[in-house]
Amino acid sequence: MRKFNFCAGPAALPEPVLLQAQQELLDWGGRGCSVMEVSHRSPEFTEVAERAEQDFRDLLSIPAHYKVLFVQGGATGQFSAIPWNLFGGGVKRADYIHTGQWAGKAIKEASRYGEVNVVASSEDRNFSYAPAADAWQESDRSAYFHYTPNETIGGVEFNYVPEVKAPLVADMSSNILSKAIPIEKFGMIYAGAQKNIGPSGIAVVIVREDLLDRAMSDIPRSLNWKIAAEAGSMDNTPPTFAWYLSGLVFQWLKAQGGVEAMYEQSLKKSGLLYEFLDRSDFFSSPVDPASRSRMNVPFVLADEQLDARFLNEAEETGLLNLKGHRSVGGMRASLYNAVPLEAVEALVAFMADFEKRVA
Ligand code: PMP
Repeated sequence: MRKFNFCAGPAALPEPVLLQAQQELLDWGGRGCSVMEVSHRSPEFTEVAERAEQDFRDLLSIPAHYKVLFVQGGATGQFSAIPWNLFGGGVKRADYIHTGQWAGKAIKEASRYGEVNVVASSEDRNFSYAPAADAWQESDRSAYFHYTPNETIGGVEFNYVPEVKAPLVADMSSNILSKAIPIEKFGMIYAGAQKNIGPSGIAVVIVREDLLDRAMSDIPRSLNWKIAAEAGSMDNTPPTFAWYLSGLVFQWLKAQGGVEAMYEQSLKKSGLLYEFLDRSDFFSSPVDPASRSRMNVPFVLADEQLDARFLNEAEETGLLNLKGHRSVGGMRASLYNAVPLEAVEALVAFMADFEKRVA
């Protein structure tokens, strides 16, 4: 029996997608082999790849002057690739908002290649909020402006898109496909797949075409967006199974009503849990109410001695992977697209019962 899985990533995948993959594993569409066992350049895989890209473009209404790339190396590969791809246009400076562990790692990486201006940071309150735009000091000249719309560990989500001068770059690993994105406000968007897209091993990049000519001359080939774009993301062998499975997730998303439906669902799911946390005398949310993530909901128990018992009992009840990130402790429920409302209802019922028993 499948259980309710609140893992932050690699995260729950839609059951119909897993069933289809299972069905096609030995004999994919009558070919007598699986999708993993054919050339990435074959007509049948090309069809999978093109359909996945088109469905992804449809889901997010991506305009034609943006390239979509399917790449390896995860989101880490991309926050490493960004300075290589954008510091070659004459400006080796970038603005970053520091909102937690993922923004912090991206800042550290970019600092190896150029000057980083941290325009705002929420470190003063333990990364529990998204900084407001009014106090920023943007650089006069900046190759790009990077932020993390949803910090997976802290559970902090921006409720607005920054209006900035430089090309806006965003790490959407943990909230992509959960709501509509005004793509034209961005220069580049990236996301590791293993939360709202598909299995780990692949990442998706959306990049405005005019930014493909700003790479540093010594950029490693495998990080070069222009080369990837010109090769249809097949300069070398891509992770074909992850690409295929992501494509099935996109089809499932379309059948569910697309990102608008996911947005409504995410408000319902996270709203249910936050309302409970705010009512409870025993559980609480450490995140500023205006910046609470719809995807990752960290929470703490009034008595941390009870953390282990909470996790054990949750698991016995069929509620998996609620332990918070090792760097912050406490609990975290990740409520990505594939996590159904029933999972959150079951979680809240369990928490209410736990509270009654221990309080
Ligand atoms: N950015 C964010 C917001 C993330 O949540 C993660 C992974 N949890 C990463 C970057 C790193 O992703 P990867 O492991 O794919 O490199």
